[in-house]
Amino acid sequence: MGELAKMFFETSNEPLSEEELLTARKNYFARYKMREGDCLTENYELVCEHCKGKRYWQDGKFVAGCLCKCQSQALEEQRELEQKKQRLMRFEKLKQASLLGERYKNASFDSLDLNRPQDFIDAVARCKNFCERWEDVKKEGLGIYLYGDVGTGKSLLTACIGNYLLAKMIPVLFTNFFEISKQIKKSFSDNSITESDFIEKLATIDLLIIDDIGTEQMVKNGEKTWLQDKIYDVVNARYVNKKPTIFSSNESLVDLVENCGLMKKTVDRIAAMSTAKIKLQGTSYRLTEQQETSIF
Ligand SMILES: [Zn+2]
Repeated sequence: MGELAKMFFETSNEPLSEEELLTARKNYFARYKMREGDCLTENYELVCEHCKGKRYWQDGKFVAGCLCKCQSQALEEQRELEQKKQRLMRFEKLKQASLLGERYKNASFDSLDLNRPQDFIDAVARCKNFCERWEDVKKEGLGIYLYGDVGTGKSLLTACIGNYLLAKMIPVLFTNFFEISKQIKKSFSDNSITESDFIEKLATIDLLIIDDIGTEQMVKNGEKTWLQDKIYDVVNARYVNKKPTIFSSNESLVDLVENCGLMKKTVDRIAAMSTAKIKLQGTSYRLTEQQETSIF
């Protein structure tokens, strides 16, 4: 290194004097807009009057404001609050879209009256398990066929599942084919919704709960109704996409075909998707035949 270069090198690396540092801070804080809790010491150090932490940093002549511990904490809290608010808004929106309605909007496993037959208690445990293992359920496309007489608590149980998953921000739609056919008919005259968009929503939502399957009119004048094809479209789309689906019915799968006239190919799909077939007897518990591939 030449003499000149050495001289330059040495001078340029000389640390700033205390006075120069002080001047840099003084200049900076002369234009600085003081904030709540700011305290400027006689050495032009900006500190917090609460935590005494520095509210500036300095690198040579360069000075800039920064946050002390309580300021960054407050900012973090505000951020969390905002996130919570957003989450709540999203939840309310999801809940509204779920169509769970007044009757079931507060249904939860915790508020269930367990003074019921043993088969109901067992069904509760399995439905809860379905929720708790949602990640597996989603990955494997598992589903439930919950059936039994009127008044055995089928809809209530499926609503508990719906609300549990909604609380985890999982999109759920709780509906039945009567409502679906109403919506489709509405789409004929209402331009704001198209039938294909609606079917797409049914086909793709994370969890679809179809309440009371088998109560719709499936045969008219000896012919299958137009709804049959729609039901097949929805069921088949979910089957193909491996989307978790829950069905509740007063009928067994066999009776869906034999008593209700639902197409066999639709029922075959439902049977394949319903990895758990849970029967509510409404009376005493009795071990049922169920051959299933359920993991819960
Ligand atoms: Zn502070």
